[in-house]
Amino acid sequence: MNAGKFGTLSVVATPIGNRGDLSPRAVEVLKAAAVIAAEDTRHSRPLLQHFGVATPLVALHEYNERAAVASLLRRLQAGDDVALVSDAGTPLISDPGFRLVREARAAGLNVVPVPGACAAIAALSVAGLPSDRFVFEGFLPAKPAARRTRLRELAGETRTLVLYESSHRIVECCADLGAVFGAAREARLLREITKLHETCLGATLGDIAGRLACDPEQRLGECVLVVAGCAEEAGAELAEGRRVYALLRAELAPAQAAKLAAAISGAPRKALYEA
Ligand code: SAM
Repeated sequence: MNAGKFGTLSVVATPIGNRGDLSPRAVEVLKAAAVIAAEDTRHSRPLLQHFGVATPLVALHEYNERAAVASLLRRLQAGDDVALVSDAGTPLISDPGFRLVREARAAGLNVVPVPGACAAIAALSVAGLPSDRFVFEGFLPAKPAARRTRLRELAGETRTLVLYESSHRIVECCADLGAVFGAAREARLLREITKLHETCLGATLGDIAGRLACDPEQRLGECVLVVAGCAEEAGAELAEGRRVYALLRAELAPAQAAKLAAAISGAPRKALYEA
């Protein structure tokens, strides 16, 4: 297929707070595109106007995705350049756009990134926690039981965890993190990155929960949690404990299986029983 006669899909990162973070190249690409696919056209318009971008906008969000993607693919195939933006940060990172990128690639079209702000990477870059390997978990489940189940699955993760959370669930989320990972686990809560009230709370999950409890201001705005992974030995013990527990559970009651598996592996009994 000759991709030359087709348009290019540019995935363009926009600021997560400070408008100064929109790159000159992003402005150029947005101006030159035939159309901009935006998560929320009303949200993106003021930013685009600020930078003198007059390109027409179309909506691309989870509710119109199928139809919007089909129409955008037709335009790309007809030679139009398309830019994709989300409300803030990098499209597809806990934001719409996956189906468009996937289908554009499947159709052999040219897809290029115009990199820029991403809250997860910005938070990780200043958290002061190991950043050589990390896991991006996005948003945890909103329902408490599902959230705790997911956290128990992550309890043995040795890489740094990066989580998004909305302000109205941050208190419950930090309480669950402390209960499952232990209040002493090193962590940072990065709030309002690149904005006026930017803050970083830490140093442990216990500290963050305490600060949120006594200072309601700290519960406002957008936030990213960066949580240290569990120590390598603890992770290995937990994995071994879970393996032994699963074997013993076939013959024994949960409490007894957990007690024996903990004695054999060195993993905390509670972590095995709860898992
Ligand atoms: N695509 C975006 C990105 O690249 O970061 C993320 C979109 S997701 C729908 C929104 C979440 O990102 C928020 O709930 C918050 O967890 C995080 N976030 C976005 N902007 C932020 C900021 N300025 N400070 C802290 N967290 C932010």
